[in-house]
Amino acid sequence: MSKCDKQIQQICDYVDGELDGALCAELEAHLKECRNCRLMVDSLKQTVVLCREGKPEPLPKELEAKLSDALRRRWEKKFGGKKT
Ligand SMILES: [Zn+2]
Repeated sequence: MSKCDKQIQQICDYVDGELDGALCAELEAHLKECRNCRLMVDSLKQTVVLCREGKPEPLPKELEAKLSDALRRRWEKKFGGKKT
């Protein structure tokens, strides 16, 4: 499980299409074996596509908390400079 924690940031990059080729291949290999991370990718993709319309498949609570935390930090990093 702790291995997956490290994947969360990569998964965010992956869904955004910002992950390096090598890391991307590594992550995809992991995704084949790990249902939790696949769920996260699905959930993120749905979040991106649906943009707050409709609910993605629910994640286990613990994962969801970690994921939203990672996402929040990511958004702050990306858009932290320009607050409206
Ligand atoms: Zn995993």
